[in-house]
Amino acid sequence: MTVLVKSTQSGPSKLRLAAAPFLNTRPLISGLVADAPSGVELQLCSPAEGARRLAERECDLALLPVAALARQGDLVAVPDVCIGARTKVGSVLLVSEVPAHELATVALDQSSRTSVTLARLLLRERRATRGEPRYEARPPSELAACVDGTRGAVIIGDPALQATAARQFAYVYDLAELWHAMTGKPFVFAVWAGRADVVNAEVCGLLARSLGHGLERLDEIAADAGRHGVEPERARRYLHDELWFRLDDSMVAGADEYLARASAAGLLPPATLRRYDGTTPAEIDVKAAVARAGDGGRLSAAEVTALFERADLIDLGAAANRRRHALNPDGVVSYIVERNINYTNICVTACRFCAFFRNPGDTEEGYVLSREEMGQKIRETVDAGGVQILLQGGLNPELPLSWYEDLFRHLKATYPIKLHALSPEEILYLCRLESLPLETVLKRLVAAGLDSLPGGGAEILVDRVRTRIAKLKCTSSEWLEVMRVGHRLGLRSSSTMMFACGETLPERAEHLLKLRDLQDETGGFTAFICWPFQPGNTRLPGGDGSAHAYLRTLATARLALDNIPHLQASWPTMGAAVGQAALHFGADDFGQVMFEENVVSAAGTIYQMDVAGIERHVRAAGFTPVRRDMRYGRLTS
Ligand code: SF4
Repeated sequence: MTVLVKSTQSGPSKLRLAAAPFLNTRPLISGLVADAPSGVELQLCSPAEGARRLAERECDLALLPVAALARQGDLVAVPDVCIGARTKVGSVLLVSEVPAHELATVALDQSSRTSVTLARLLLRERRATRGEPRYEARPPSELAACVDGTRGAVIIGDPALQATAARQFAYVYDLAELWHAMTGKPFVFAVWAGRADVVNAEVCGLLARSLGHGLERLDEIAADAGRHGVEPERARRYLHDELWFRLDDSMVAGADEYLARASAAGLLPPATLRRYDGTTPAEIDVKAAVARAGDGGRLSAAEVTALFERADLIDLGAAANRRRHALNPDGVVSYIVERNINYTNICVTACRFCAFFRNPGDTEEGYVLSREEMGQKIRETVDAGGVQILLQGGLNPELPLSWYEDLFRHLKATYPIKLHALSPEEILYLCRLESLPLETVLKRLVAAGLDSLPGGGAEILVDRVRTRIAKLKCTSSEWLEVMRVGHRLGLRSSSTMMFACGETLPERAEHLLKLRDLQDETGGFTAFICWPFQPGNTRLPGGDGSAHAYLRTLATARLALDNIPHLQASWPTMGAAVGQAALHFGADDFGQVMFEENVVSAAGTIYQMDVAGIERHVRAAGFTPVRRDMRYGRLTS
C-alpha cells in the first residue's frame, strides 16, 4: 500500500485531497477509495467547498473547476487527468420551454462557476443583439422545477442527468456541444490542481493510477449509478461516450480557449492552465535554473521557490548581476529626487505590521496635513531639485474623493512636480467611500493631475498571508486589478514586496509571478522594490530580514521578474552598505533622496541620505549616478 506523505516543519503529514461525490468524479477517485493509501486523506465536498479549502490550505489538492483555477492564480494541474468532454457531455445543460434567444431569465446553480461562466459566454454569443437574460441563483434541487415560460435553467452534474430522465423539456442545449460548435475545441470542467510545492511526480502518479483503476471499472461504476439517481444504462453512456478523462494537449487548448474568452468577457481573471512539468522545487537542478535565468530564460514557480530555498548566494548574485547589465547596460545607477509626504495618519485599516496609523477620532496624535504644510515640504523639495511627490496616507473616512481632486489640481497648478500618489489600498477605499467603480475613481484622479501609482500595500500577494497580517486590507486580486485598470488608463506604477512577514517561500514565489503575469498583460510596471518587514513597534513577529536574506530575495526577484526593467536597492531599510551590495545583486536604481519617511520609520528602522550621499555611495560601488523621473527617463540636472 502506498504511503504518501508530505513533510512539514512539524514532521510528515497526510496528503489531503478534496473532490465532489458526483458520478463524474467516481472514475478519478476510484483507486483512492479502493486502495485507501495510508498517507492520503480524501475529503468529499462540493466543488466550491473544495476550491475554498484549497485557497485556505485546508487541503493540498482539489478536483477544481477550471474557473476556480483562474481565481486562485498560480496553481499547477496534474497532467493526464481531468473531467471534460470532447463534443457533448450530457450533464451540463440549458433547459427551457422556449428557444434560448427568447429567454428572459435563466436560473443557475451559482456554486458551479465554470458551467455558469460557460453558459453566459454561449448565451452572449447566441443573443448578440438581445443582450444577456436576467440570471437568478437557485439551489440545484429547485432548478428543473422552476423552468417555465421564458425562464430557463442551467442544470449541472447528477441533477442534469436526473432531470432529463424525469421530464421532457422543449429545448435542451448541451453546453459542451455548443462550445465545440463555437470553437472547434473540447471542454474541460475540472482538473486536479494544487500549489507548485505540492504537485510532484509521486502525487501525479497516485492520481493517474487512481484514474486508471476507475477507467477499468466504468461498467461497475455505471451499474452502481442508482445511488446518484441515474439509470445504469444512461450512466454507462455518460461515462463511456460523453465524458473524457485525459488531460491531453487538445483538452489543455480547450481549457485555455475558455479561460481566454472568459477573461476577455470580464467574467474571470486572466489565467492559463499550467500542467505539472516534471519538477518540484526539490527536484530542480538549481545551478542550471540560475544559469538559464541569468541568460534571460523564464523561471517556473517551482524554480523560483527552489532558488529561494537552495541557490548559492554568490551564483544567484552573479546571475542577477548579468541579467541586470543585460537589461540596463551602461554602468549607470539611477535615482530620483522626490519627497514622501504622508498626508494623514488617520486610518481605519489597523494593519498588524503598521506603527504609523492612528484611529479616527484620535485628536492627540492623528493628523491631516494642511495645504500650507504640504506646500512648504514641496517648495523645499523643488528647491533641492526634486521632480516628484510621493503622496500616501492612511484610509481616512473624513477625506472624500473631491478632497483629493481639489488637492491634486491645486498642487499641479502651483508647483512644477509630478504626483506619484495613492496606493491601490487608498484607491479602493475611495471607491468604497463614494460607491463608485474603480475606473471612474481612477479617471477622475487622472483628470485632476495624478501621474503614477505607487506600488505600496502589495505586501505578499497571497490572501492567506494578507488575512494574517492585515485582515481589512484588499485582496491580492483587488490590488492587481487597481494596477491593471491604472495601466490600461496609461498610468505607470512601481511594484513592491514586503517579505519576511509570515509567508512561505512558495508564497513569496507566487507573489513574484503574479506581478510578472500582470506585467505580461499590461507592461505598466516600471520597477520592483522589496524590503523585509520591520517588526519594531508593531504587533507582528518578524522573519529573517538579514542582509543575506535581502540579497537572496532581491537577486531571485531580478531573475524571476524577467519583464520588469528596473529593480531598486532598498537602502532606507537595509542601510547604505547593503544598498551598495544590492547594486551587484540585480538592482540598477538607488531609489530616492529621503527628505522624510514616516511609515517604515515609525517601526524603528530608517536610514537617511541626501543627493551627495547617494551619488557618493553609487560611485563607490563602481557606477555612474544619474537622476531620473518616475518613468525612468534620465534628467540632465
Ligand atoms: S499600512 Fe497603511 S493601510 Fe495599513 S494601517 Fe498603516 S496606514 Fe493604514
